[in-house]
Amino acid sequence: MVILSNISKSFGRNQVLRGIDLTVRKGEVVAILGPSGSGKTTLLRCVNYLEKPSDGSITIGDYHVDCKRAGKKDIHQLRQRTAMVFQQYNLFRHKTALENVMEGLVIVKKLPKEEARRRSVELLEKVGLGAKLDSYPSQLSGGQQQRVGIARALALNPEVILFDEPTSALDPELVGEVLAVIRKIAKEGITMIIVTHEMTFAQEVASHVVFMDGGAIVEEGKPTELFYRPKEERTKQFLSRIR
Ligand code: ADP
Repeated sequence: MVILSNISKSFGRNQVLRGIDLTVRKGEVVAILGPSGSGKTTLLRCVNYLEKPSDGSITIGDYHVDCKRAGKKDIHQLRQRTAMVFQQYNLFRHKTALENVMEGLVIVKKLPKEEARRRSVELLEKVGLGAKLDSYPSQLSGGQQQRVGIARALALNPEVILFDEPTSALDPELVGEVLAVIRKIAKEGITMIIVTHEMTFAQEVASHVVFMDGGAIVEEGKPTELFYRPKEERTKQFLSRIR
């Protein structure tokens, strides 16, 4: 479903991604772990071209982009196939929960308003917010806002959902409700890449775990292998620090 090949990225003279290769199969949930500054968020943002890779190629579904030659049409195609859930939710402040979810359906997917409304209500019910359709972000808790963010991503029916530390801005008591929603949609076979610090969650939900450090993939594998039988010294050190 997603093939990243030799993805590199520099900010000025700072090379933050050093030739990343990663394959994500359809329905797979990949968790990306690693110390702060290792390039996890930048890698995720490269997948939908919120950051432009300096080199490499990206394939999503049947669409292939050579990053050195990518044009507007390619970027549009990648964005059509992906949806991002952000750390800070990134909701429209002046729109209700329902309008936030409808926006992409009306503007991007060009659905008639009534159909967009019906689908958005369904999705908000799915994330447990059927009673908050008309609330503005300021009237919702962080966990509720993030669940609107997830409903909005699902609405686009993307080939892959990219989660950028979806619970890191939340108070501890609100983390569980957001993870529960992600767990539920993971079970539906939606392809996901999740940057997270939630180790227990990664262990439970991910089918594949990637450990990054210094802009490179140090080690990857099944959760049980990576968490209980890490091969690389850097992975062992990282895991011992956070446990
Ligand atoms: P992580 O998600 O693993 O914490 P990031 O991808 O956020 O790591 O950052 C990796 C490195 O890239 C850091 O050194 C960070 O300072 C740098 N970086 C990220 N975004 C930018 C940017 N827009 N401009 C300059 N440097 C950036």
